[in-house]
Amino acid sequence: MLDALDVRTLLVVVGFVILLASLGMARFASRFPRFPGLAWFAAADLLLAIGILLVVSRDIGPAWLSTVVANLFAVTGLLLNAEGLRRHVGGEWPWWSRPYALFLVHVPLVLWFTYVDHDVRMRVLSHTGFTAWVLAGIAIALWRSPARSRMRFVVAAFALFAVWMAFRGGLALVQAPIPSFMGAGGIHALGLIGYAVFVLVKDAGILQEIVQRSLDEMEQQARTAPLTGLLNRRALTDVAARAMAQAQRRGQPLSVVLVDIDHFKQINDAHGHATGDAVLVEVARRLESQVRAGDACARFGGEEFLVLLPDTGVAQAMQVAQKLRHALQAPPTVAGMALTASFGVAGSEGVDAFDRVLEGADRALYRAKAGGRNRVEGA
Ligand code: GH3
Ligand code: MG
Ligand code: MG
Repeated sequence: MLDALDVRTLLVVVGFVILLASLGMARFASRFPRFPGLAWFAAADLLLAIGILLVVSRDIGPAWLSTVVANLFAVTGLLLNAEGLRRHVGGEWPWWSRPYALFLVHVPLVLWFTYVDHDVRMRVLSHTGFTAWVLAGIAIALWRSPARSRMRFVVAAFALFAVWMAFRGGLALVQAPIPSFMGAGGIHALGLIGYAVFVLVKDAGILQEIVQRSLDEMEQQARTAPLTGLLNRRALTDVAARAMAQAQRRGQPLSVVLVDIDHFKQINDAHGHATGDAVLVEVARRLESQVRAGDACARFGGEEFLVLLPDTGVAQAMQVAQKLRHALQAPPTVAGMALTASFGVAGSEGVDAFDRVLEGADRALYRAKAGGRNRVEGA
């Protein structure tokens, strides 16, 4: 059945499919310049498409165009994916993932088996050997990159196409000599379809990763407070609702510590808003460094913070709050200012909803302020 496929028709169809993929990537590249790899993928697909379309002129046009130049375009096209992916995922990429020097071997081989010893098989072998190296190198480099978990699909596309190329090359070696590539049929016809499948799967995988990455970033931004990078109030409400439900299910306590910087307005007034911001960042850093991994720190309002302590009773939370109070006062100070805060602590025992816990902490904080600040009060 495969032998019935007309290679020239296949070349035209596959070439145009890849050309369309290239135009699609170019459009994405111009719309989303923050992904610098996209322009390289567009260029990679374009060169591959040109290379494949140039083979259409085999036995019709000049041999140098349909063999040597076509080969150069196709192989360079595959190689440029390494440049695109390197820019897309970042990090250091090893030299063997971008083996441009192999051109020095490949091009003379193609010339030799075109003009000196006309041997289609050996040309196929040189092409498949070189591309198998390139594709496998990219797959391995991508697998070793930090983006591995997000790019499994793309890694698989390169790895499978590399295996396929190596298989095709091995088969060409053991098969009977091929008089003309146009009559090669069989596995080589299937090989052509492989290029289109590879490009479509690779590009879809890259675009899927971009969508996923953008959504993750947006979610991350929606959850974090500006400036400090702590959880914002909305995210804290989510985390707290889950922690509260879990605490009730397991019969465990849960406590919160509400933190309010003392006389923060004075810091702003005396040293400027920028210094006030620096103080907020420093407070966030100190709070975070004092609590356990399962605890959550949130920026609750302007200069108010909230620390959520799962599996912690009020008495223990009071101790944590004292520790936080000392940590905020500890040197070095920001811009030489004395920094203190007041703390309100409340627990979930005997309370049905997280909002009630918060109300308790708020009342305790009010007492801490009224009692002279720089102190811890419990509900
Ligand atoms: P108290 O000891 O009673 O808590 O006094 P305070 O001055 O800390 O409290 P008050 O509520 O009077 O003032 C809070 C100030 O926090 C006022 C506001 O301008 C400032 N603030 C809120 N958000 C930010 C911010 O993001 N950056 C800076 N620099 N200041 C902020
Ligand atoms: Mg306040
Ligand atoms: Mg304050």
